Formats: sequence, C-alpha cells, structure tokens
Amino acid sequence: MFKGITKRWVLNTLLVVIVVVLFVVFCLSYGVRIYYYHSVSQTLNSASAEFSDVLEDYTTDYSTFISTARGYVENFDGKEKMEITAIDSFGKVIITSTGFTPDSTEQMPDYQKAINENLSFYEWTGRLSSKENVKAMTRLVRDSDGEVIGAVRCVISLADIDRTVSVAIISFCCVGLLVITLVVFSGLYFIRSIVNPVRELSETAKKIAQGDFNAKIEKSHDDEIGDLCDSINYMATELAASDRLKNDFISSVSHELRTPLTAIKGWAETMQYCGSVDKETFDKGMDIIVKESSRLTSIVEELLDFSRLQSGRMVLMREKLDILAELDEVLYMMKDRAISEEKHLLYDKPEIMPPVFGDKNKLRQVFINIIDNALKYTQNEGVVGIQVLDFTDSVHVVVTDTGCGIAPDDLPRIKDKFYKANQNVRGSGIGLAIADEIIALHGGTLEIESGIGVGTTVTIAIPTAKD
Ligand code: ADP
Repeated sequence: MFKGITKRWVLNTLLVVIVVVLFVVFCLSYGVRIYYYHSVSQTLNSASAEFSDVLEDYTTDYSTFISTARGYVENFDGKEKMEITAIDSFGKVIITSTGFTPDSTEQMPDYQKAINENLSFYEWTGRLSSKENVKAMTRLVRDSDGEVIGAVRCVISLADIDRTVSVAIISFCCVGLLVITLVVFSGLYFIRSIVNPVRELSETAKKIAQGDFNAKIEKSHDDEIGDLCDSINYMATELAASDRLKNDFISSVSHELRTPLTAIKGWAETMQYCGSVDKETFDKGMDIIVKESSRLTSIVEELLDFSRLQSGRMVLMREKLDILAELDEVLYMMKDRAISEEKHLLYDKPEIMPPVFGDKNKLRQVFINIIDNALKYTQNEGVVGIQVLDFTDSVHVVVTDTGCGIAPDDLPRIKDKFYKANQNVRGSGIGLAIADEIIALHGGTLEIESGIGVGTTVTIAIPTAKD
C-alpha cells in the first residue's frame, strides 16, 4: 500500500505518533477517573467518620443510639449528594437520609465485609440492583469498651462522576484524533514536497544518462532539494559541454591524423605508380613523407602523454639540468620553420642560469608546445619573443607573441583538456593541458595573459634546483 519514503514515514513517524497519542490519552483518562473516584472516597471517608464520631460520643444505650442517629440524619445537609444510613447492632437499617424504607433484598457488601472481618470501615464500589453505579462506605460504631453498637453507611451515586469522566475521555480522544489528523496531513504535504521533486529528479537524471543533456529540472523550492536540482542542471550543462568537447576533439584529432596521412599516401602513390620519378621529385616526396610521419608520431605521442596524465601514470625522469641548453635546442629546431613562415623569432637570455631539477624531454616538450602555439597563432611578419629571467628561487621562461590573442571568455578555460578557442586552426586542444600538468609536476606554474589583437604572453616558472 505504502512504498518508498511514504512507507518509511508511516513506520518511523506516524506509528510512533499514534502510539504516543494513544498512551497520553489513556494516561489522562485514567488519571481523571482516579482523581474523581479518589475525591468521592475522601468525601465518603470524612462523612462516615463524622457521623460515627457523633454516634460514639452521644450514645449510652440502644435508644440514645436511635435518637442520636435520627437527629443527625434529619439535620444532615448533603442529602442531595449522598445517602447516609444508620444500622443497629442487629444489621437492621434504623434510618436513611432518603426517607424511604430501604429494600431489604438490596445487598450491602461493604457492611457485610466490615462486620464479618471486624474492620473499622470498608469501602465498596459496585452496581445496585437498580443498575446504578455507586460507591459506599460502612464504618462500625463502637462503645467505650470497643463493642460494636451499630454502623453508619454513606453511599454516593457515581452517575454524574461517570458522565464527567466520559466527557473528559471523549475530549481527550478528540484532541488525540485531531493531533493525529494534523500529523497525517502535514506529513503527507511534506512527503509530497519531497517525493514529487525526487521523482522528477530521477526522471531527468535518467534522461541525462541516456544522452539528453538538454533535460532540465525546474527548481521549485529554495532548499536542499532545490540545491540538488541546481547540481543536476549544472551536471547536465557540464556533460553537454564535455560531450561537445569530446566530439570536437574526435573530429580535430581525426583531421590532424588525416592531413599527414593524405600527404604520405599521396606521395607514396606518386612514387609507386609514376615509374621512375626524377631525383628532385623523389627527394621532395621523401622529405614530405619523413616530415609528415614525424608529425604523426608527435600527435600520437601527445595523445599517449595525455592518456598517461589522465591515468596518473606519467613519471618524471628528473635530473639537474640547464634550462638554457634545452631552450637553445628547441629554438634551433624552430628556427627554420619561423623563417619559412616569415615570422621573427627573438631570443633574449642571460649568460648563465641556475640549474633546475627537471625532466629534460618533458620540459623540452612544453617549450616546443608553447613556441609552436605562438608561431601557429601569429600571422606572417609577426614576432615571437622568448625571454629567460632569473628569479633566484625560480627560472622564468616568457614566450610572447603578436598573434591573434585569446578572447577573455576563452582565457579561463584555455588550459582545460580538449578546449580549443580557435576551431579553424589545426590542433587537438590538449597541448596546454599537458604542458600545464608537466609544469605542475615540476612544482612550477604556467600563466597565460592575452587579449584579442594584442597577442599572448605565456610565463612558465620552474623552481631552481636546491643543492
Ligand atoms: P591546440 O593543439 O589546439 O593548439 P592547445 O592546448 O595548445 O591546443 O591550445 C588550446 C587553445 O588555446 C588553442 O586552440 C588556441 O585557441 C588557444 N591558444 C593557445 N596558445 C595561443 C596563442 N599563443 N595565441 C592564441 N591562442 C592560443
């Protein structure tokens, strides 16, 4: 019947509330009954004690017993509330405050018990033959020698009291029922305010899991559920962005791989089918095949590096090294390309630099990547400057270009994996992510400043080696 959170609420909260309410109603009802019955007993006790005291004080013989009893009963004030009776030593009722001769068949269990067991008084609660519920008390009257000379009996009807107690119990039950009803309604409202959004959340999460990243949840409450809606919406947006990035990445990597492959295949076929090609064409073809093959190798290397970084398998082979020597080699490699692309490569370095403790190949890879980017995004006749600065504790390599620059919106995400600000230029979008990780593994930082049309400055800081 109930399931999920509703079932848990019914078992954990509603049942407990019902049990507590029933217990409280029971205790209150019992308490009220005890209180009223106890006050009746007290009234009976004091009335019978007063009556028997009077009889004991003024009785000298049987006739004074009768006359004293008559006098007391006739002048008794509380006749409406209580019936008082005087009984002689033979068990015969002498007088009662009702004025009627009592029914001789009516049992008086309290009197019987007090007489039989010689108790000074005894109280009885029960039903008369008229079906009336009463409380009665018999108190034995003794002379100065302690001999029983008679008894007094007081009887109070419980009809009014039972009615009062019943009204109280019904009132307690109504209040209890009201409390339970309130708890049920407020609980159901509360559960609905949780269960419905949670159901919606789960439906949306399923849609997102099936690839519908446009699925969104409307935030109805500004609470924990609202926060969860925000988180799921944020997750969908991020998943959509990374899905887009993944697709862009696949297409740009495929494109990256296809370009050199097409060149290699084209030249290989030319040499295969065109018979004996002249030496100049052969050399040119071989040159292109070698160049494009190494481009392919570096793309694959980059992808492998990325995968190693992702799985935390990248290990640095660190040694003390001179950063100027590494930069010299990189610039030597890049020089011809800059000349062929008609870009000016400026190199400003001090005579000596303190050594750094790093991985030669990985740092060289970072410099190649940053200078390659600078050349790639700088138009002909542009300038790419490389400056090395000694900050005692660290060495700074600053690569500046006069290229297209990066838009402020793209700048914060430029180091994210697969992120490309410029879709028209070749590249996989993972170069900077790898460079940043490598520098971070060296305990250094890689900062990028840029502005559209102003150019870009990349500052790499690497701590110097400690002796
Ligand atoms: P890619 O292989 O695509 O160049 P990177 O991770 O090296 O990938 O660079 C990420 C993006 O950062 C590039 O797509 C490009 O838009 C931008 N970028 C990097 N360096 C520069 C630069 N010097 N000038 C302008 N844009 C740059």
